[in-house]
Amino acid sequence: MIGTIHGATVTGRAWKRTQCTHCCTPYVYLNEQTGYGEGGSIAFVNAAQGDATAVSGAERALANNLETKDALARCPNCNLYQPSMILHGRRERSSRAVRRGLKLTLIPVFACGIAAALFTKHTDWFLVGMFGSGLLGLIVTICWALVLRLRFDPNTGRNYLMPPNEDIASSGLTVSDFEQLTSEQT
Ligand SMILES: [Zn+2]
Repeated sequence: MIGTIHGATVTGRAWKRTQCTHCCTPYVYLNEQTGYGEGGSIAFVNAAQGDATAVSGAERALANNLETKDALARCPNCNLYQPSMILHGRRERSSRAVRRGLKLTLIPVFACGIAAALFTKHTDWFLVGMFGSGLLGLIVTICWALVLRLRFDPNTGRNYLMPPNEDIASSGLTVSDFEQLTSEQT
């Protein structure tokens, strides 16, 4: 019996209302979040059901994230991001940095490993390269993730290669502008 775990990720956007902690202006912005869900199936028997469970789980996680997490969107009055947005941005970016850093580290590690197997005259050097690049990649990844976690702050321009999504960042509207926009659309 072979079991398979089906994973699904969904991304969604919804308008969210907040109040600026810097200048007290209430504003509405486009929040964007992702949700992840999993479903299990046995061999190929109920694969479709496993997929459906994963998707509905991802949609539930998305709805929850849209409610509890805040994307980075500037206040339309003072152009600053809110502390809760920066906090979520720090968490999300540090885990993204870990995933990205580990993926990038695997490239030289695998390349040196393959070279060590192919060029047997210089195996030792390629093994040194394999462990050296692995260690270096690990150290750089941990430092990058820590810096993002502790110091990321787009209000002062400290983005560390992970700036806010400009679409979302500039989506903030004053409540009266937002109400005008929605009344024009209906
Ligand atoms: Zn403001």
